[in-house]
Amino acid sequence: MKSTFNNYPEIREAVRALCAQFTDEYHRKIDEDKAYPEEFVDALTGAGWLAAMIPEEFGGSGLGLAEASVVMEEINRSGGNSGACHGQMYNMSTLLRNGSQAQKEFYLPKIASGEWRLQSMAVTEPTTGTDTTKIRTTAVKKGDRYVINGQKVWISRVQHSDWMILLARTTPLAEVKKKSEGMSIFMVNIKEAMQSGMVVQPIANMVNHETNELFFENLEIPEENLIGEEGKGFRYILDGLNAERTLIAAECIGDGYWFMDRATHYVKEREVFGRPIGQNQGVQFPLAESFIEIEAANLMRFRACELFDQGQACGAEANMAKYLAAKASWEAANHCLQFHGGFGFANEYDIERKFRETRLYQVAPISTNLILSYVAEHLLDLPRSF
Ligand SMILES: Cc1cc2nc3c(=O)[nH]c(=O)nc-3n(C[C@H](O)[C@H](O)[C@H](O)COP(=O)(O)OP(=O)(O)OC[C@H]3O[C@@H](n4cnc5c(N)ncnc54)[C@H](O)[C@@H]3O)c2cc1C
Repeated sequence: MKSTFNNYPEIREAVRALCAQFTDEYHRKIDEDKAYPEEFVDALTGAGWLAAMIPEEFGGSGLGLAEASVVMEEINRSGGNSGACHGQMYNMSTLLRNGSQAQKEFYLPKIASGEWRLQSMAVTEPTTGTDTTKIRTTAVKKGDRYVINGQKVWISRVQHSDWMILLARTTPLAEVKKKSEGMSIFMVNIKEAMQSGMVVQPIANMVNHETNELFFENLEIPEENLIGEEGKGFRYILDGLNAERTLIAAECIGDGYWFMDRATHYVKEREVFGRPIGQNQGVQFPLAESFIEIEAANLMRFRACELFDQGQACGAEANMAKYLAAKASWEAANHCLQFHGGFGFANEYDIERKFRETRLYQVAPISTNLILSYVAEHLLDLPRSF
């Protein structure tokens, strides 16, 4: 398989070498045991990859989203799942772009060294779903503290992170001019919060993805944990979400190449009716189509990275990259499973695991329909539907 994208060769080679130490058997066992890949995440942290976007003055490598996305792509392309650790990358960018100098000095060096993990971001709520501006979790100022009450759902990696970024309403919806105003973001010390007002309830789910319901009852957090200005949190979180969508697009592209590698290898080897199944155009064409779609998604992913790294608006590109890449990886997953016949269902081939993992990206971190609705409204100027 010859991808036309071989940029950032040094990063690719180094991440590939690290990932090669973690075999298919390792990732399969972690999945079967519903465990967290501690050794894998520690190795990535130790090698500095999860601090790629932290500026050098704070102990990181000062790289951009493009480089960070190559790291995520290579993890997924190796057969691993960046879902265990990608939060660190995009949460970092939220802190980096909107935190005060004092906050950056406090958090970033410890995150870069691996002493602290910033893997969690709590936005989604059970009653409001994608309609984020209606969130009901509140943060009320009381002296030098904020008191948090409410509930979140699907909040990932909480049990494997030290800090979490929390979105909460600081001004009631009825009192703001625009519904996107009046929300703020806070750094929450997870272990402390679990002792004093935050309850974490794990959610068993289809993929091996550690995710949870969170319940807040009078959780008090110091005012210095507010990131940026009060009331502007939604804007800050959107910036982080663009980074997240672009990184997830890169992960889908990594998955897509993984499926293509496995599929093309297998269809050349497997002989039925006296010839390799890959000699049939009924097998070749869907694979060729998938490959074209992955390559095309890759263009949009690097366009989104370029804009983000230049500090320009990239909402449209990040959304479209995520849409194209998630679609391409899902198509590739289906073809890979199909052309493996029965063997695709055997755990030892890892296809069913990667198939489950890549399916998630049709729904999270943003559903395909919501991206289509964004494009219809913002790029096609069609009337807003909600
Ligand atoms: C494994 C996992 C991990 C996650 N991790 C995190 C996390 O760490 N932090 C976090 O904050 N969230 C997280 N999420 C939440 C995720 O971002 C949401 O599930 C996702 O954004 C969809 O929101 P929802 O589940 O509330 O779906 P809903 O908003 O209820 O929507 C359900 C479906 O309805 C359709 N739909 C909804 N509105 C419209 C519309 N206007 N037009 C057309 N169709 C529509 C879409 O197809 C959508 O998929 C995670 C989810 C999962 C499954």
